[in-house]
Amino acid sequence: MNERKLIGYTEREEGFYPMYEPAKGSIVTQAFILCKYCSGAVYHCMGPRLDAVCLTCHEKDPDVR
Ligand SMILES: [Zn+2]
Repeated sequence: MNERKLIGYTEREEGFYPMYEPAKGSIVTQAFILCKYCSGAVYHCMGPRLDAVCLTCHEKDPDVR
């Protein structure tokens, strides 16, 4: 089994989709993924993404993001 770590979520109109760290050996971009709410780093590569939400903000109430 090759279980990958949850790093954050992707927000779409329909809801949140889990985002996992890339598989070992996969080719990724060297840009940070930043959270759309707090601008904190969600992950150190695979970016840039405009629809990413970090784990902390995902847990927050939508009104306080
Ligand atoms: Zn955040």
